[in-house]
Amino acid sequence: MESQYEVVIVGGGPVGVALAVELGQRGISCAVVERHLEPQRIPKGQNLSNRTLEHFFFWNCVDELRAARVMPPGYPIGGVTAYGSLNSPYWYTQGASRSGRGESVADYFYEKNERLPQYCTEAVLRERLKQLPSVTAIFGWTAERVDQDEDGVNVTIAPATEGSFYSWSADTEQQSNKDTTAEGRETLRAQYVVGCDGGRSLVREGLGIDCTGRNFDQRMLLAVFRSKELHEKLGRFPEKTTYRVLKPELQGFWQFFGRIDVGEGFFFHAPVPAETRADNFDVHALLEEAAGFPFEAEFDHVGFWDLRVMVASAYSQGRVFIAGDAAHQHPPYGGFGLNTGLEDAANLGWKLAAKLQGWGGDALLRSYADERRPIFEQTGEAVIAGGIDRDREWLDRYNPNVDKAEFEAAWSELAESGGGQTRQTYEPHYEGSAVVFGPEGGECSIHGSHSHAAQAGHHLSPRTLSNGRNVFQELGPGFTLLAFGEQEEAAGAFEAAAKAINVPLKVVPDTYEDDRRLYESQLVLVRPDQYVVWVGDQTPADAEDVLRRVAALT
Ligand SMILES: Cc1cc2nc3c(=O)[nH]c(=O)nc-3n(C[C@H](O)[C@H](O)[C@H](O)COP(=O)(O)OP(=O)(O)OC[C@H]3O[C@@H](n4cnc5c(N)ncnc54)[C@H](O)[C@@H]3O)c2cc1C
Repeated sequence: MESQYEVVIVGGGPVGVALAVELGQRGISCAVVERHLEPQRIPKGQNLSNRTLEHFFFWNCVDELRAARVMPPGYPIGGVTAYGSLNSPYWYTQGASRSGRGESVADYFYEKNERLPQYCTEAVLRERLKQLPSVTAIFGWTAERVDQDEDGVNVTIAPATEGSFYSWSADTEQQSNKDTTAEGRETLRAQYVVGCDGGRSLVREGLGIDCTGRNFDQRMLLAVFRSKELHEKLGRFPEKTTYRVLKPELQGFWQFFGRIDVGEGFFFHAPVPAETRADNFDVHALLEEAAGFPFEAEFDHVGFWDLRVMVASAYSQGRVFIAGDAAHQHPPYGGFGLNTGLEDAANLGWKLAAKLQGWGGDALLRSYADERRPIFEQTGEAVIAGGIDRDREWLDRYNPNVDKAEFEAAWSELAESGGGQTRQTYEPHYEGSAVVFGPEGGECSIHGSHSHAAQAGHHLSPRTLSNGRNVFQELGPGFTLLAFGEQEEAAGAFEAAAKAINVPLKVVPDTYEDDRRLYESQLVLVRPDQYVVWVGDQTPADAEDVLRRVAALT
């Protein structure tokens, strides 16, 4: 096994493997250490946002991801919310998410959302990883310690279990199956380490980084089961993928059924008493209570987790970073976990590559935490924990047994707005980042509005070029300058500046007509994760200065 890498990633769940793909595509030598040989078959992380699918487009496996879908193509992604039980007269439907995703915002993204079990997503990412020569997968190994010094980081690893493990690397096509004992420790040396090792992150704890937020002190059940009868009885609703039950006694927490396939596979999560275990609790009875009708079910898995909404107080220390659930933990309310984690990977990946390849400065690495941490902190507070509070308050306030007319009026209002809340205003952006030319006093925030206008700090809208291709198909792996209209001078200035300081830049010239006018700027500088960093209509006084700032080169 090689022992020297530019980056070692601890944890090869979806976020760790995605980060390895991002780095591997950029030619960075990296190793991913993962204790499990295969993705764990728990059907979580199903709702993938439009934005997440864009990542898969750039990771060159979006078709493979869509092909791995378990549901029939075209089966609508969306949810039913019911009051009391799934047998209730009070229910409404909503789109893919209550949080500014799915169909309602599809026009602002290059890809449409998707739904499939996380283990299928992980399998697609693992296949992609195998095609990248600079990545070494060290699966079946556990990281035990992470120690950094001024020049690098050591990661001590040991075989996860006695018996079989393997490591492979696409450049050598080596694959080994060895028998070993836990004595066989090895040390990997890297310039940077990223902990993508989940909620109980060894990397985060080793750095002494604490988490803040809200611990609801609530035990939650996760059951995975099969029931054709439940599928048939759900025929009372339009075709949907999730079914959420609200009732006052749950205090804002949900009883939640999600389809794994169409026909029989489901998962279910719900609050349960603190002392609940699989052997002292009637899980089937709880399912029937939530459904409001009896049905046969065969169980594949029963597990438990604690409901908390927490964010790490720092996302890095020295040469070590954390991403995904290692940096933020929360219930799957709204489907933010995996989507947020994959955005972390996309944000950090190009910045690490830029630093290692000499076209990004240290401040670029610092911007990872400055941009990503407030996004999750606000998502956790305002959307996830805030949503639990809002549901609880609403359910305390309106009750059909107390005032039926008042309840029905309020329920209709809720149904009308598809669950109300943050549907259109959830637009994570980095206006306050030091490496974008955001507005004076701008802050990184989840609150914004989707727009086709190109704005520094915001996601680029995918408009069509005059050749019929989409701008997203033309974006380069480094920075891209969209130059619309008579902008040869500006394009030349940026190209010369990029060459002078070795920053990768692709210029995409086109007319300033049709769809492109929606950008409301003739010059749009886009960074590798498709966020706009600078806009203008004239050649800037110093193009090199612009590039130096967005790459954090001093
Ligand atoms: C029921 C449920 C439904 C969900 N639904 C959604 C949804 O619809 N949308 C969404 O976005 N999110 C959803 N989530 C959340 C999502 O599943 C997580 O956010 C996601 O798994 C985070 O990925 P990760 O790679 O950061 O962490 P993990 O998936 O936890 O992966 C961490 C990996 O690190 C490995 N590891 C840990 N420690 C070590 C070590 N010391 N050495 C080696 N390997 C190690 C682990 O084996 C694991 O493979 C859901 C979660 C649940 C429970």
